[in-house]
Amino acid sequence: MNIGPVSKPEEYTIVVGCGRLGANLANTLSDLDGNVLIIDKDPESFRKLSPSYGGMTLTGDAANLQVLGDANIEKATTVVSVTNNDNINILVAQLAKELFHTDRVVARLYDPERECVYREFGIATIFPAVLSAKEIEKLLNITAGEEEEE
Ligand code: AMP
Repeated sequence: MNIGPVSKPEEYTIVVGCGRLGANLANTLSDLDGNVLIIDKDPESFRKLSPSYGGMTLTGDAANLQVLGDANIEKATTVVSVTNNDNINILVAQLAKELFHTDRVVARLYDPERECVYREFGIATIFPAVLSAKEIEKLLNITAGEEEEE
């Protein structure tokens, strides 16, 4: 699923979850002069943002509509939900898509079983386990190839 480019200045991206992945993404968007806000329920997590991070931070539980309202989710063009909780990521993604009509919505999910359901909702999904398995397979193939060449 191609959900389009993200870093035009007029765009507004909300990243939910300031773990390594969320912080990394928020840093990158900020470096690209993107308009970005990152939400986490744990204010300590914002330490992962780089000192040059120029976006906004918001402390709160993203499952709370008030918190999403404080984040001005209705103005967001992109919402990326990468907490460590699949249920929260699904909830945020569905609210963004259905209630706030966000153009681009991405959710990180640990459980790949219902991928087709999310596709139907227009939610792009990232499955770390599947991606990791593919990368490992690639590495193994490369190693096997290199061994064959020797
Ligand atoms: P990680 O496990 O490194 O990917 O980090 C996940 C981040 O998601 C952590 O910083 C959590 O505090 C955050 N998180 C988990 N649940 C929520 C929630 N309901 N609202 C906001 N942030 C959350």
